[in-house]
Amino acid sequence: MNNSERRDNLIWVKNELEKLYGPIDKDWGERPLRTLVQTVLSQNTNDDNRDRAERDLWSRFTDYEDLATAPVSKIADAISTGGLQNQKAKTIKGILSSLAEKGKYSLDYLKSLDPEEAWKELMSFDGVGKKTAAVVLLFSLDKPIFPVDTHVRRVTGRLGLVMNGEKHHETLTELVRDDDMFQFHLHLIHHGRETCKARNPRCEDCVLVERCPAAEGFLG
Ligand code: SF4
Repeated sequence: MNNSERRDNLIWVKNELEKLYGPIDKDWGERPLRTLVQTVLSQNTNDDNRDRAERDLWSRFTDYEDLATAPVSKIADAISTGGLQNQKAKTIKGILSSLAEKGKYSLDYLKSLDPEEAWKELMSFDGVGKKTAAVVLLFSLDKPIFPVDTHVRRVTGRLGLVMNGEKHHETLTELVRDDDMFQFHLHLIHHGRETCKARNPRCEDCVLVERCPAAEGFLG
């Protein structure tokens, strides 16, 4: 499949998922530091546990300064609901310490950088990877870098939108229109959770089956 066919397929997939799941308004607002902390808390857990960990965190700490000066163990204790608490606490404390050195608990300075520069800057924080950084940029700073989690990786791979050996974030950032990124990202996650599951994908019920190269292998 050449790039032009791939783009056509991608637009078709995007449209089918929009018909299935409906349009999504982007309403996360500009709170990039809060989004970064939330996304760190979401690593390896579900949305409910992430939200609970965030509520527990802010019930014990008053503000970013309070959090930045607390011992890692105390932060870990507050966010234990979501698991991997020691690692996440270390990451959060590290981010806040770096921002304190820059003079302000804020990521607003990223607004003036181009998307690639801002992405690299976020990934310079220990524990912040490509996906976490891309979520902050797309959701809270309106910078078009496509975030790829396990569901997005699996679904787009099976659909042949990203080929073996290609880098998922970079390929999808290039292929997906900026204005489509937010909704398409969320729709792919939805589809990966409900239909294109890691084990036993429900190809027989999938609206994408007619253009999915992987379906034949699953349908047998
Ligand atoms: S047809 Fe099957 S493998 Fe392809 S996207 Fe749908 S569920 Fe996934």
